[in-house]
Amino acid sequence: MKHAVDPDVVGGMSIFEKSCAFCGARFRVLAVRAAPGAHPEEYDCPECGMTYRTEAAGEPEVQLLSRRTDGRSDRYQQTMF
Ligand SMILES: [Zn+2]
Repeated sequence: MKHAVDPDVVGGMSIFEKSCAFCGARFRVLAVRAAPGAHPEEYDCPECGMTYRTEAAGEPEVQLLSRRTDGRSDRYQQTMF
């Protein structure tokens, strides 16, 4: 979690990388941010399905960068903790 990357805003797109807190997968999130009407949008970890939120004007696009690191294959469940 020390590897946080400051969000880059490129052509109205907010692009940042995230490590899943549940499974350790890394993925890139592309969200339209500069448009008016930005609001919380949900996106899911592509490996375990854990839900995150970001401010965006539309549904964020998620690109998997590296596979999960916890060695498991279960899906994130809200009731686990
Ligand atoms: Zn995950």
